[in-house]
Amino acid sequence: TYIVTENCIRCKYTDCVEVCPVDCFYEGPNFLVIHPDECIDCGLCEPECPAEAILHEDDLSPEQDKFYQLNAELAETW
Ligand code: SF4
Repeated sequence: TYIVTENCIRCKYTDCVEVCPVDCFYEGPNFLVIHPDECIDCGLCEPECPAEAILHEDDLSPEQDKFYQLNAELAETW
């Protein structure tokens, strides 16, 4: 799955939302998130993000690991 990370905070370009074929982006309190169970790993959104906030889960740095859980939680509560 792909994950939205800190660069998205207070950004919300939403270019990613428009290209996602399965509509798995959700709005968090101050940034967008991806529902990890709904993302089909197509990779289309990653190059669309002007803030380079979208990363594959395997490319998260140790400091960014928390965003996996955060994306999952915020996507569920929407
Ligand atoms: Fe949507 Fe594809 Fe991005 Fe997953 S990788 S969030 S399915 S555009």
